[in-house]
Order: sequence, then C-alpha cells, then structure tokens
Amino acid sequence: MSSSFTPRLHRSLLAGTALLLAPLGCATSTQAGAARDEAALRMDPPPQAKPKWGLVIHGGAGVISRENLSPEREAAMRAALTQALQAGHAVLAKGGHSLDAVTAAIRVLEDSPYFNAGKGAVFNHDGVNELDAALMDGKTRTAGAVAGVHHIQNPIDLARRVMEQSPHVMMVGEGAEAFARAQGIPLVDAKYFYTEERWQGLQRALAQERAKAVPQGSAPDTGTSPPVTPPPAAPGQPPPVAPGQPAATQPPAAPGHAPAAPGKPPPAVPGQPPTTQPPPAPGKSPASSLEPGVDPVTGDHKFGTVGAVALDQEGNLVAGTSTGGMTNKRFGRVGDSPIIGAGTYADERCAVSATGHGEFFIRYTVARDICARVEYQDLPLPEAANVVIHDVLAKVGGEGGVIAMDHQGNVAMPFNSSGMYRGYVGEDGAPTVAIFRQP
Ligand code: ASP
Repeated sequence: MSSSFTPRLHRSLLAGTALLLAPLGCATSTQAGAARDEAALRMDPPPQAKPKWGLVIHGGAGVISRENLSPEREAAMRAALTQALQAGHAVLAKGGHSLDAVTAAIRVLEDSPYFNAGKGAVFNHDGVNELDAALMDGKTRTAGAVAGVHHIQNPIDLARRVMEQSPHVMMVGEGAEAFARAQGIPLVDAKYFYTEERWQGLQRALAQERAKAVPQGSAPDTGTSPPVTPPPAAPGQPPPVAPGQPAATQPPAAPGHAPAAPGKPPPAVPGQPPTTQPPPAPGKSPASSLEPGVDPVTGDHKFGTVGAVALDQEGNLVAGTSTGGMTNKRFGRVGDSPIIGAGTYADERCAVSATGHGEFFIRYTVARDICARVEYQDLPLPEAANVVIHDVLAKVGGEGGVIAMDHQGNVAMPFNSSGMYRGYVGEDGAPTVAIFRQP
C-alpha cells in the first residue's frame, strides 16, 4: 500500500500502543509493568537478533462498557484470560509446539461460560448451540476446521484432529461429529452448552427482531411477550430439546429441525415465524437478522469468540479460533472463525485470529488480507493489521478486531469496536490482559 496513509496510521498505532495491553489488575500497574507491555506490543519494533516467542489471545470484541461490566464479572473474565495465557505459556516455555500452546489456551476459554465458545456458546435462532473452530500451522500450511457441531465440548480439539488425522481441511455438522466419534472424542449432550445468560441473550435478540418486524402503526413488541422458542427448563434441568433432536450419544441429525427437503429451507420450528428473509440490497449486509451477541447481564453488544496465536521457540506460528457464532444466527449459518483466510490464518511469517461480525470478515478475507500485506507489501504486521481493521473494515461497517503475530514475535491487536478481551504473554511468563481501549 502506498505510504500516503502511513503517517496517519502511524499516529493511531502509536496512540494505541500504550493502550493495547494493561497489566493484570490495572489499578496496581507499575511503571515497569507498563514499560514491559509497551515493549511487548511495540508497533515499530527494532530489528531483533532473535525472535521473541510468545502467545496472544482474544476473548471477543464488541461494545463493552465499563459501567455495564460488574467488577465480579470483569475479574472472572480476566482470571480466565490469565489462565489461558498461563496454559499456553507452560507449553511454550518447555519448548513445546505452538499447536499445543494455542489449543491449550483455547481449551481454557472454551471451558469458561464467559466466552462465546464451547461451554459459553450463544444460541442460534432455534435455540440450539452450533459451534465452529479452526486451527492453522503456518510452517506446514496445514489446517483443520469444523463448523456447525453440536456435541463437541472442545471444538478446537476436533479441528486439530481434522488437520492431523484426516486428509481434509474442513468438516461440518453430522460428518464432523461422526469423525469425532471415530477418533474417540466423546460427544456431549447438547444440554452441556446451556447457560441461562446465553438463553436470555437469545430471547432478547428474538424480541428485538420481532419489534423490528412489526408493521408501521402497530404497537411494537416490548420484549415482554413470550419467547418464540420453548422456555428453558428450570435450573438444574436439561434445556429444552427441539423436536427431532436426538440424544447426544446417537448419530446426530440436524438439531432442532426435521430434515428439509433437498433444495428447500428447513421447516420452521412450530410457533416460530418463517426464518427466511428478503435478500439484502446489493452491497448491504442483512444485518437485522444477525445481531452481535447481546449480553443480557451487561446489556452490551459483543461477539465473544475466542482465539489464540503463538510463536514457539522453533519459530512455528500457529493461529486458532473457536466460537458459538452469533446470537440468533440461522440454522446452518457459518461465520468467519472456521474459514481459513477469513477468521483464522497462519503462514511462515504471519498468523491471525479474528473476532467480529463474521460476514464482513469472510467477504474481506480479513486474516489472509493482513498476512498478504505483510508478504507482498512488506508492511510491518501492526501496520497491516491496522489498515485492514481501521480502514478496510471500519469503512464498510465491519465491527471487530484481530490478534496477530509475526515470525519475529511482534504482536498486533487492533479492534474497531469499543473493547476486545485480549491478553499477551512473552518469554518472561508475566501475563497481561486488557478489555477496554483505555486501561
Ligand atoms: N466472528 C464470529 C462469527 O461471526 C463471532 C465472534 O467473533 O464472536 O461467527
């Protein structure tokens, strides 16, 4: 890219540098800690004799406001991010491969109810959790991805099996779960993914959708009308299982649906409005049907996908991403996270994991675009990442962010939303996490 926009970018990068990561427990941050963070995330790094190995993670981007994030919740999320960094660092410190570091970190976040992946996955329009994940090894250019799985506790592990134990790159739905079973990965009951928070998030999204659909002159839906999907079971009880959904240990069929006739959309769940939408105007995204995850506790809009990128002591760059997608997504919708080159990508010099409104990240091939700018334009990684997030995506309304590392261990974490859960750990083993723009 021409250098004409470089000064402006440069300014924003420098301005962002000190803000990207704050030491865990910002209130007690020391100058030494701040200097370390600054160094770890330097945007224009000096030439280095030796690459700096390390791990960078995200837990989703979006509209995250301090006033709506309770101290307890913030502390719990920071603790989970720290634990993920520590899990990955433990692998890297003993000379382990980035593949193991990335999967170890992502597993921690998948097991946490606070992030939109694994246990904390959001619900789709039909009240079902559909999970996607991907992993890519930059040196070998091998990759594995799964999409639309419903019974896999740690989808990142299944993505790795696809990469290492199959001739394929991506497997979806029933086929992916049959492969999991053949690999000895246990299938969990769909109720494992039920959380009250996510259920309420879906109810709110459905109410908003109904309110938007009310014809002019009619009274808008205030959100107090009954949910269009069955209400959740009482606490401690299994969540509702949509008609036709099998027990988790049986061969999976399309959850929540009777099978559709070939070429036909799946039948609507009883009591629900048809799920088909008019096609969007050319160039527009049909955003009304896909709301960012609305956190029912905080009221914030956030995406919440998790991801990790690592550079190990042997110079292997790996990127991985895992998600429940977007609240109220339609059955079968797949976002950017498992799409190699969109939400997840790694090559020998650059690795990226994304979070945000997936449709934009797919159409703008965000992860690969960043790495292509590094490769073809010789841009420093932070600059390449900033161009794509703040110029390319922001211009078209594509909300979100990325974490990225290059083969020297330089890190970038740009986001065009108000916050992004994120963290970094380097060779010194001191994890740093941040959520907001301002520490
Ligand atoms: N990118 C994810 C998707 O569109 C959502 C997220 O980042 O939370 O599926």
